[in-house]
Amino acid sequence: MQLIPDFDLRHCNTFGLSAKARFGTTINTPQDIPALLDAAERLDLPLRILGQGSNVVLRPVFEGIVAQMAIKGRQILQDTPEQTIIEAGAGENWHDFVSYTVANGMPGLENLALIPGTVGAAPVQNIGAYGLELADRFASLSAYDTHEQCFVQLGLEDCAFSYRQSLFKREPNRFIVAAVRFALPRPWTPNLRYAGLSELPAEVSPQAVMDRVVELRRSKLPDWTKTGNAGSFFHNPVVDATTVERIRAEHPGAPAYPQPDGRSKLSAGWLIEQSGFKGLRIGGAGVSERHALVVVNHGGATYAVIAEISDRVRTGVEAQFGVILVQEPETI
Ligand code: NAP
Repeated sequence: MQLIPDFDLRHCNTFGLSAKARFGTTINTPQDIPALLDAAERLDLPLRILGQGSNVVLRPVFEGIVAQMAIKGRQILQDTPEQTIIEAGAGENWHDFVSYTVANGMPGLENLALIPGTVGAAPVQNIGAYGLELADRFASLSAYDTHEQCFVQLGLEDCAFSYRQSLFKREPNRFIVAAVRFALPRPWTPNLRYAGLSELPAEVSPQAVMDRVVELRRSKLPDWTKTGNAGSFFHNPVVDATTVERIRAEHPGAPAYPQPDGRSKLSAGWLIEQSGFKGLRIGGAGVSERHALVVVNHGGATYAVIAEISDRVRTGVEAQFGVILVQEPETI
């Protein structure tokens, strides 16, 4: 394992922000993890693991070590009439992995197609799209526990998944995920609950569902390889019934999706658009003209400008609707 000084992070984040780390390196095998932790302790520097850097906003300088997760590998561990269990290395590209499972007769992850990032990052925020969350297909994972200084196996209960939340967010920097195992139930049934998919016929194939998800995402969301971004920039807020009533008194069409706990999830994108921020531009960054939930780098965006947009949107939505938005990408 080699530590590269003055490590350029521009190509390690989907926002395409210019940033440097004191040192950078790559994790290619699980055994690299304890070696890397030793090095960080010896140098007395903080350590951050990045996957594809698809859910981060980078400050210009990180005074520590950034390690890119690159552990690869896919392996079927169990194949029965009830389920397939497949394991993937944390450094596998998420969409490539989803495509591989669908193309090889192991459907179940198709609603999560085209989400940027790596397999190892997926459990951290319990990625979700089109009515499916990672937790719905999760079996277990292997991670290095930096507190106990050993590898651990964590199951569904251990990971404490909830809406875009997990153990890994509640205890940041404690676990380094090395591999994730997915349980794909048989027989496969399509999940066509969300608009855009509900128009598909009931006898649709997994590949056709995946193709539609890809088509929907491409039509709505800016492509980070062309216009840097970190996906949804705010969580959809979950609010009480009184708040929904208050908002709907003025905006009868306001989207609100009832949750099992009696509260309702509002659409952050709708709130931002109604507050007049869609298409806002400051410096080289802005709120996407295509989707108000996405903050984009039009070219030359800086951390300061992204932070200013984040503040302006949060303050504006709170003033207009009395709802506090929480930023989704983590600032490093
Ligand atoms: P949309 O159709 O504009 O709807 C806005 C929000 O309303 C969605 O985020 C979704 O919440 C919620 N929603 C829509 N239909 C729903 C239903 N039938 N039941 C419950 N909640 C519903 O959504 P969009 O922005 O195009 O996104 C489509 C999907 O892709 C969503 O699931 C979204 O979460 C996901 N997505 C995720 C990211 C990311 O970076 N995390 C980025 C883009 C899109 P949910 O978020 O809870 O699904």
